[in-house]
Amino acid sequence: MRRLSLLVLALAAHTAFAAPAPTRIPDDALRTAAVLREQALADDTGWKVVESLTTEIGPRIAGSEADARAVAWAQAKFRELGFDRVWTEPVSFPKWERRSEKAEVLGTHAQPLAITALGGSPGGTVEAEVVRFADLAALQAAPAGSLAGKIAFVDYQMIAARDGRGYGPGGAVRSRGPSEAIRKGAIGFVMRSAGTDSHRVPHTGITRYDEGLTPVPSAALSVPDANQLARLVARGPVRIRLALDCGWDGEYTSHNVIGEITGRSLPKEVVVIGGHLDSWDLGTGAVDDAAGVGITMAAGHLIGKLKRAPKRSIRVVAFANEEQGLYGGRAYADKYGDDLKLHQIAAESDFGAGRIYAFNTGSPAPEGSREATRQIAGALAPLGIEYAPTQGGPGPDIGPIAAKGGAWAWLAQDGSDYFDLHHTADDTLDKIDPQALAQNVAAYTVFAYLAAEAEGDFGSRPKEAGAGK
Ligand code: ZN
Ligand code: ZN
Repeated sequence: MRRLSLLVLALAAHTAFAAPAPTRIPDDALRTAAVLREQALADDTGWKVVESLTTEIGPRIAGSEADARAVAWAQAKFRELGFDRVWTEPVSFPKWERRSEKAEVLGTHAQPLAITALGGSPGGTVEAEVVRFADLAALQAAPAGSLAGKIAFVDYQMIAARDGRGYGPGGAVRSRGPSEAIRKGAIGFVMRSAGTDSHRVPHTGITRYDEGLTPVPSAALSVPDANQLARLVARGPVRIRLALDCGWDGEYTSHNVIGEITGRSLPKEVVVIGGHLDSWDLGTGAVDDAAGVGITMAAGHLIGKLKRAPKRSIRVVAFANEEQGLYGGRAYADKYGDDLKLHQIAAESDFGAGRIYAFNTGSPAPEGSREATRQIAGALAPLGIEYAPTQGGPGPDIGPIAAKGGAWAWLAQDGSDYFDLHHTADDTLDKIDPQALAQNVAAYTVFAYLAAEAEGDFGSRPKEAGAGK
């Protein structure tokens, strides 16, 4: 008896002074998650939300009249789906508009080219000889002044991959190519779209001009048009005319739209999931990113229908203006990033509507939550999702709060065909497979519910000054 009480005392002392117990997911929560998972697979809420947003609002470039309608739509949709609290938070940014765009080959082989202005491009009409570069490095290697009076053409073909790794170098042509071309003296910039399709649909996307440079008209050619222009250039000098009417036009204030399911015992602590509400203007933004909005709204809705709410709140965020610079994600981190204790974990769905194949929290997950992450991965396994303990990264709008030390989860979607559609007129509802979308909803539902039920945290801690990237 005495020995036992000594042992108890020793154990108590050990617990009081040792590191906090590892985070774990209670068994009853795992049982509820298994039921939720099957319900979500048979539920079409996600699909209906995506159908509603892409049909009723359509294209919704940040700062447009449709942006405002999308904000009103999201508030109404959260209410319709039974969220306990619905509110908006202002997000301001400069407004960019596309009005018209045209390009053509001049001279002997005169013909039109399918192009689209890059977001952020100034308007203007330029007519000049094209100089082709195989990739960004070749443009960077061109001698200073060698493009004086010319139009640079970067002809880099990005590769398709399940994890989208081709977008790093493909997207770099778009973000850095125009500034490099201006440094060499170019008066215009065209690129092979950062895309993996073979359709005559150019891919837009934001570009930035380095400070001190005078921006020049910058556009992307569809992949077949880039092939065509490359063949013409191989035959001899080619002049093109690029005529863009677009540009920056004042400031605009949009909103992050937020819906919350109130937690039963720790309501101030939140699991954050979401997608971005804005899209580019060419398609209806179905895979980018009505899908993410639909997946996470549906997940919140299904958790909200439980008889017993999870311990913590589920917060679904439809972020404003991701496309032109993560404005919604940055505003969110500015507002909530100083109170990371309340920020259990966050995940954004913004990689299309393909099936989720891998899961992780942090890369690697902090030691104290590794076992809980493994438990969640176990609950996701029947969906064909594997635990990837050393891989992943936060979604774009989660990046800013993750940089402050917020915990994040990675639910990796199969992006094999994402860049066939991304930022094009082809990004429309018919490209989404309802079954794959339901698998995404099931995964987000299980993840968010279990993270909200966890005993312990996932390592949200303020990063020491200078420790972050
Ligand atoms: Zn996106
Ligand atoms: Zn996008």
